[in-house]
Amino acid sequence: MRDTITHLQEKVLAGGEVTVDEATELLEGVGRDDLMDLLAAADRIRRHFIGNEVHLCSIINAKSGRCAEDCGFCAQSVRFDTGVEEYDVIDDETALAAAAKAHENGAEALGLVAAWRGLKKGPELERVTALIRKVSEDGRVHADASLGLIDDPDVAGQLREAGLQTYNHNLETAASHFDKVCETHSHQDRLKTIELVREAGMNVCSGGIVGMGETPRQRAELASELREIDPDMVPLNFLNPIDGTPAGSDFKPMEPMEALKCIAVFRFMLPRHHIMVAGGREAVLGQLAPMMYLSGASAAMVGDYLTTGGMSAAEDQEVIAQTGMEPRPPSAGSTSPRPMRTVAEGVARGCT
Ligand code: SF4
Repeated sequence: MRDTITHLQEKVLAGGEVTVDEATELLEGVGRDDLMDLLAAADRIRRHFIGNEVHLCSIINAKSGRCAEDCGFCAQSVRFDTGVEEYDVIDDETALAAAAKAHENGAEALGLVAAWRGLKKGPELERVTALIRKVSEDGRVHADASLGLIDDPDVAGQLREAGLQTYNHNLETAASHFDKVCETHSHQDRLKTIELVREAGMNVCSGGIVGMGETPRQRAELASELREIDPDMVPLNFLNPIDGTPAGSDFKPMEPMEALKCIAVFRFMLPRHHIMVAGGREAVLGQLAPMMYLSGASAAMVGDYLTTGGMSAAEDQEVIAQTGMEPRPPSAGSTSPRPMRTVAEGVARGCT
């Protein structure tokens, strides 16, 4: 397996693409004996294409609970009894306080996240665009958002007009596994949303969740599908099974070594993309969390997640410094979408 790792590393460094078959071979074949070789190779690839800068962002749950959809991992679906706090769209003061906190934590952006199927024209869109304007005008962090499915170009256009720079919409899992995770909307619905976001001139943030019963090949397929849509940021979430959800009873958290292997293989598949380790980081990686930066990750979510707590900002900063990474300086103030990747001589150098 060491020869395979070296061969694929050289292939990627030379500008080649790792296939789904090759990524599956790594995911299935790398064991305890070869894991450190794989992580070191992914680290080399990350340094070559991205450098040492780490992108940090924060999120706030801008509307919580009572979502009509049935994503099996999600605490916010109205179909599952999870005891999650429920509230309607937050007020300006709450959003601005979250923006200030995100800035204090070293984050570049605050993602406003809403639990619902998606946005249509009307009072909810008006309310959300008002929040986006407030955060943008405040200027401490960029306003990003994750507001569900979009099927109307005008909705995407209004979000962009309000100052939204980056829209998060994850593929969640490989197309071949999607119906095991969600039945109320399709993988195609998600692709359509991403298309409209891009057409409206916003950056695309799209990744998925692993640990939901998918096979190693389906993890590789997810990375390949993400490579196809070429997002500006790839959040990689590890399932943190929540009591009351289908995933909460069906799955256990991944082993930390397995999670690190997954980050590394995503780096092989997506060498030029920022890979952000997001939800489930503490629950899955535990004490090994700092290793994510030595396994190919180049971005992290700081502060609390949507329904679970995260590491403190001070701990995050310490981990970043100890692993030789450098937080990218905040660049708030601009209203144009920041290019997440700049390509110079064929080498992506991270956020600008
Ligand atoms: Fe949760 Fe979003 Fe799915 Fe609703 S659409 S259940 S908020 S993941």
